[in-house]
Amino acid sequence: MNNNREMLLREVLSVIAHNNNICITSHINPDGDSIGSVLALGLALRRNGYDNITLFIPDEIPKNLLFLPGVDLIKKEITAEKIQTLIALDCGDLERIGINKISLSSIDTIINIDHHITNTSFGNINIINPDSSSTGEMIYEILKFMKVEIDRDIATSIYAAISSDTGSFKYDNTSPITHIIASNLLSIGIDINEININLYQSRSIEKTNLLIASLNTMEIFKEGRIALVIVTREMIKSCNATISDADTIIDFIRDIDGVEVACILKEVEDNVIKVGLRSKNYVDVSIIAKCFNGGGHMKASGCTIHSSIEQGKLLILKEIENSVG
Ligand code: 5GP
Ligand code: MN
Repeated sequence: MNNNREMLLREVLSVIAHNNNICITSHINPDGDSIGSVLALGLALRRNGYDNITLFIPDEIPKNLLFLPGVDLIKKEITAEKIQTLIALDCGDLERIGINKISLSSIDTIINIDHHITNTSFGNINIINPDSSSTGEMIYEILKFMKVEIDRDIATSIYAAISSDTGSFKYDNTSPITHIIASNLLSIGIDINEININLYQSRSIEKTNLLIASLNTMEIFKEGRIALVIVTREMIKSCNATISDADTIIDFIRDIDGVEVACILKEVEDNVIKVGLRSKNYVDVSIIAKCFNGGGHMKASGCTIHSSIEQGKLLILKEIENSVG
C-alpha cells in the first residue's frame, strides 16, 4: 500500500471512529462486487463494535447473491437525515449511488472507495485504486490495514466480490495480488463450491429464457468484430424475468470468436436505455461510455442513453464502429 493511500486510510479510520451514524452503500443495479464489498466492510465494522452502521442498497439484490452471509442486514430504504458519514463502495460517480433515492445534503462526510479508472473523486475522502481487480480486493486490504479479523462470513463476501469482477479470475484485472488474496481467503475455510454454485450455476429458468430471447436479437457488425443484442421490457415481461436477469447476457456475445466489442441495450423505461459494453483485446470501452456520460473500466463499461432503443442503437454503434477501426 502506498504512503498516500495509507494516509487516506488513517483519515477514514478517524472519521469512522468519531462518527456514530455511518451508512455503507454501493451502486444501483448491484452486482457481486458491490454487494460483497458492502457486506464484508459492514460485517467487519459491526463485529468490531461499530453498531450504528446501516447497509443500504437502493435496488433489488440479484437472487444469486442472496446466499451471502448477512445479506438480510441490507436495507432498501433509509432515513438519510440520520446519516453523518456515507461510505460509497464501487461507485464511479455520484449518480451511481442512486442519487434520487438518498438525500446527500445532510451528510457530513462521503468516503469514496472504488477501483474504476473513471471515478470522479466525488467524496471528501477518495481512495481510488484502478489497479485493484475489484472493490472487494480493496476492502480486503483495508481490513488487513485495520487489523480486523477476516472470518469465514467476511471472507465469503470478499471472495464473491473478487470472483464476480474478475470473471472468476479470467480477466486481466486479475493480478498476482488478487491470487494471493484469494489463496488467503481459501485458507480461512470458505466453501468455494457453495460460492461457485450460487454465483455461476444457479441461473433461473426465467433468466435462461430471457437469455434465449435476447440472443435471438443478436446482430453482428464490422466483419464480426462487434456483436450487439437488445433486451426490451416486453421481453422481460414475457419471460417473467427482471432487469437484473439481463446482467450476464453480454458475456455470451463477447465470448464469440472474433468479437472485439460486445454491446447490450436494455430498455429500463420509455426512452431510458441502459447500455453495457465489453471488449476483449484492444478497444477501451470506457471511452465510448464516457461519450454518453457513463464510465467503467477499459474492458467493461456502461452508460445510459435517453432515447428509443432503435435510436440508442444507432448512436452507440457509431461510437463503437469508430473505436473498433
Ligand atoms: P455493467 O455493464 O455490468 O452494468 O457495468 C460494467 C462496468 O461499467 C461496471 O464496472 C460499472 O461500474 C460500469 N458502469 C456501468 N454503467 C455505468 C454508468 O452509467 N456510469 C458509470 N460511471 N459507470 C458505469
Ligand atoms: Mn467493481
